[in-house]
Amino acid sequence: MARLAIATRNAHKVDEIWAILESLLPHLHRDEVASALDLDAPSPVEDGVTFEANALIKARELAASTGLPALADDSGIAVDVLGGSPGVFSARWAGAHGGDAANLALLLDQLGDVPDEHRGAAFVCAAALVTPDGREFVEVGRMPGRVVRESRGAGGFGYDPIFVPDGYDVTTAELSPEDKNAISHRGAAFRAMAPHVAAVLT
Ligand code: IMP
Repeated sequence: MARLAIATRNAHKVDEIWAILESLLPHLHRDEVASALDLDAPSPVEDGVTFEANALIKARELAASTGLPALADDSGIAVDVLGGSPGVFSARWAGAHGGDAANLALLLDQLGDVPDEHRGAAFVCAAALVTPDGREFVEVGRMPGRVVRESRGAGGFGYDPIFVPDGYDVTTAELSPEDKNAISHRGAAFRAMAPHVAAVLT
């Protein structure tokens, strides 16, 4: 019986969020966590212009349609020299159906002439928790770093092959999932959210 809904249709993302929350929520079991796909919930239009707004849109819709406390996230890469873009447009930077490879290629191209000292960026994640009775929580995590010039590594997804976190010389696509979660924007946002999840489930 589900007690918590997660606003994604991607099974990999449920696993990733569960990996972050598991040790922090000892009273919740994996089979009590259901995705929007498991619950056959509708997908809202993500028309917010901030990560926080989009995460709240997804969590509100899922809480309303399922009657369960709902967790959602919205994330992307914010490049300093582009004024924070691609930002909320990260998933569709090369067009609605561009996909990860086209998005990454376009960003590399746009930064082609930008010298190394001006290639700062951050992955940002807003996590939102909304309960059916209207309680709302938002937590934001950031992972600062820089955009490198060539793709490296086979792990992760999206812009991982071209992002090197501060203090590292490998890309996030070269880190194990555990090592990435320990420093990632998503890890930080969901670890900060865990106490709120625990509180609404009691
Ligand atoms: P969403 O929050 O799952 O919709 O992700 C938005 C987009 O941001 C993804 O399609 C990726 O392009 C990018 N993104 C978000 N988080 C990451 C990450 O951890 N690694 C690489 N790309 C990411």
